[in-house]
Amino acid sequence: MSDRFEEGEEKKETGEEEIDLTEGHQDASATKKAGKSDNGDYEDVCFICRRPESKAGKMIKLPNNICICDDCMHKTMETVSQFDYQGMLNNPQFQNELDQMTKRGFPNISFVNLADLQGDGGIPNKQKLKKKKKKEGEEPVLNIKNIPAPHKIKASLDEYVVGQDHAKKVISVAVYNHYKRVATNTMNEIEIEKSNMLMIGPTGSGKTYLVKTLARLLDVPLAIADATSLTEAGYIGDDIESVVSKLLAAADNDVEKAEQGIIFIDEIDKIAKKKNTNTRDVSGESVQQGMLKLLEGAEVEVPVGANSKNAMVPLATVNTRNILFICGGAFPDLEDIIKERLNKSASIGFNSELKDKYNKDKNILSKVTVEDIRKFGMIPEFIGRLPIIYTLEGLSRDMLVRILKEPKNAILKQYQKLLELDEVKLEFNDEALEAIADKAMKRDTGARALRSIIEDFMLDIMYEIPKDDNIGKVTITREYIMGTGGPVIEIRGN
Ligand code: ADP
Repeated sequence: MSDRFEEGEEKKETGEEEIDLTEGHQDASATKKAGKSDNGDYEDVCFICRRPESKAGKMIKLPNNICICDDCMHKTMETVSQFDYQGMLNNPQFQNELDQMTKRGFPNISFVNLADLQGDGGIPNKQKLKKKKKKEGEEPVLNIKNIPAPHKIKASLDEYVVGQDHAKKVISVAVYNHYKRVATNTMNEIEIEKSNMLMIGPTGSGKTYLVKTLARLLDVPLAIADATSLTEAGYIGDDIESVVSKLLAAADNDVEKAEQGIIFIDEIDKIAKKKNTNTRDVSGESVQQGMLKLLEGAEVEVPVGANSKNAMVPLATVNTRNILFICGGAFPDLEDIIKERLNKSASIGFNSELKDKYNKDKNILSKVTVEDIRKFGMIPEFIGRLPIIYTLEGLSRDMLVRILKEPKNAILKQYQKLLELDEVKLEFNDEALEAIADKAMKRDTGARALRSIIEDFMLDIMYEIPKDDNIGKVTITREYIMGTGGPVIEIRGN
């Protein structure tokens, strides 16, 4: 069982889309599919202006799968007829030349064959817009049309995410409010603020995992973007609207579905205002500025099936009003800023004995205020559009042990299931789990270290056990983890 395997499964379930560098490869397979499959699910796109049928109106179909919208057809006709008005065709001299040319035959002019331009399957399905239609499928765990109460959302999250109770509570209420607003469409009547969130927590504390789990339970498309790759439009890097394009791809190019999705922007602390810089800050403050209208709700034109806008890519209009934005980051120096503020207020007057107390406080991050985040380098307009701010705790040793065994898809359960297929029982001593947690704590990358540690020593087990049919049970001990002994192996039938 590898990380890749699990992530692959998750992607399938949530429809989540990560940056894909193999764009060309995908295009080829999409084209192949388009050639074969029934294209009833997809809209036609105008060959000239690239607008889809839902925007440009009925298409006029020409040979070789070319469609032209009414507007473009009219414009073409008009241009042709203007030629006539200018008297070209009535001009005797022009007529004379035309006659002679007809007699001589036209010079060797070759016309571009439009079918060649299009390739075999015409426009690949990946670049077309899916028609809006309701699909009948499995019911999601949490239905956004009839969103369950916050405590039920939290209970579903509890099955997967260990600890982080405060974060789960806040996210459940925010999601409940958000989808309730979307479902009842009350956003227009009273200007209710969107429940966009800012999630602060150390690396490996479960920020991405929490959002992924939520999107999977709600069965809404999810796009995960990395703020470090974003730059102001026109500069090298992904422009800001590319995150919406990614969401559209995660929703199978279904605009309606994408408009109710979730966009998670990771490493948001990396777009803090750069200090002491004389050059234009294209990947910091400008990105924050550029994101303002997306966060608030705007109609954006995004390319379908590609990351950048260019002439050959059809555009779709996506309204971000109902898209839930969650930004996450570790904000490494934020603790110092909070401490400084708290110590300053503590050193005044009667509270002076509190001074330095905060230096030892482990949960200092939870005392964060908007002012601290502003000081860190986020602009006030940006913070203002993320009204829900909460923190995740750093994972303790106990939490790491629980992460190993408690979640529905816990790593231990996965290995147990794998060995069960060989009819071998796998058990871990409590001391063994603690030893794994201790090793993970040393790496300081949160729960992310757990999998690599386990994978290291499970390799031998997974290699040796299937060799011998007599083995019925394996118990992993602390000694085995620490490298001072081996696992306890029991023979079948004993
Ligand atoms: P980050 O906070 O850096 O985004 P991730 O969400 O990517 O961290 O966490 C890495 C992995 O650690 C996840 O895939 C998940 O398996 C595990 N994990 C982290 N926190 C938790 C948690 N609270 N409960 C269960 N698993 C967790």
